[in-house]
Amino acid sequence: MPIQSKLPHIGTTIFTVMSKLATDESAINLSQGFPGFGADPILLELVGNYTREGYNQYAPMAGISELRTALAEKTRITQGYYPSPEHEVTIVSGATEAIFCAVSALVRKDDEVIVLEPAYDSYEPAITLNGGIPVYVSLNSADFSVDWEKVKSAITSKTRAIMVNSPHNPSGFVWSQSDLDTLEELIRDREIYVISDEVYEHITFDGLRHLSLGGHSGLRNRSFVCGSFGKTFHVTGWKIGYCIAPAALTVEFRKVHQYVTFSTVTPIQYALAEYLKISDRYLSIPGFYQKKRDLFAEGLAETGLKLISSHGSFFQLASYGHLSQKSDRILAVEMTKILKVACIPISVFYSNQQDDKIIRFCFAKTDQQLLEAIKRLGELNKIL
Ligand code: PMP
Ligand code: GLN
Repeated sequence: MPIQSKLPHIGTTIFTVMSKLATDESAINLSQGFPGFGADPILLELVGNYTREGYNQYAPMAGISELRTALAEKTRITQGYYPSPEHEVTIVSGATEAIFCAVSALVRKDDEVIVLEPAYDSYEPAITLNGGIPVYVSLNSADFSVDWEKVKSAITSKTRAIMVNSPHNPSGFVWSQSDLDTLEELIRDREIYVISDEVYEHITFDGLRHLSLGGHSGLRNRSFVCGSFGKTFHVTGWKIGYCIAPAALTVEFRKVHQYVTFSTVTPIQYALAEYLKISDRYLSIPGFYQKKRDLFAEGLAETGLKLISSHGSFFQLASYGHLSQKSDRILAVEMTKILKVACIPISVFYSNQQDDKIIRFCFAKTDQQLLEAIKRLGELNKIL
């Protein structure tokens, strides 16, 4: 008997669709965002050791204290504040879970939640499932910066929260201090909370530093900061992340987390706690990815596509409207089938599916894969 869907408008995510097509077509997969290279063997060995030593039963609901403490220390080093490991840090099964739990803890029926779009695809279903109403505000089309006047006019007495994502997926835009200050000014006198998706916190370029909302004294007291070890340490399949939020918000967050999943994979928590002790392991990531961005962007520019500068994340946007009026979805499929390079059409990140003729490539791949993809894209005129 069919059930009445709570998410009638939702199908299978574009990431699943394009990754499957890439596999079926034996294409280089620059669509779904995951690294094409392995993690540090030291980290892998730590996980092996902890599993063999018997750390295989349920972890404490909020995460092991060693990892919460190591994360608080990382936050002190990178953002200049030390969240309480006991009351403000929770280890979860990936940033997706952190976002879902934060939204569930906050959003009540008919509450409005501001979503800046293009937006990562998990925000809207989380809001909708909790009875909330997403209120969309478009980012500036040239560089995906925030139009604060538009945000201001979207705020109403029903606004409960705003979803923030910097470094931004898909555009690579990185928020500045003035963005944080402006947001703080806009919501200062209102009961509006922030869910800050910071999964690319360690991937910024050109000397830009990621500014966590938790590091802002006026925003910290109302923000859920969501992060992902999968992105930071090239292990997206481990699905482990965290939420840092003030004690009162963490109490509510954990009420949801304990019934969504209860706790998160134990041996990996121990391994990460140990691995995080050497700060260079995360502080060296921007340099590592900047080389990949430069290699890929330089080659991609030769293909005739127009690049939109990526300042963070492991994504590069490229527009092709000056070359063809084909829809971005069709172009992405043809690129995968004919040129054997998979990408993501950007229209999927918009609530109205607007097609600005922009595609997204993930450059978290080996240099060899990137160079081969660029070579194949040299034949772009075949599909335009
Ligand atoms: N937010 C954004 C912007 C992402 O790109 C991703 C990565 N897929 C996530 C959240 C989810 O992270 P995780 O895999 O840790 O759930
Ligand atoms: N965040 C990844 C991306 O944007 C995908 C994660 C997923 O498949 N859900 O490509």
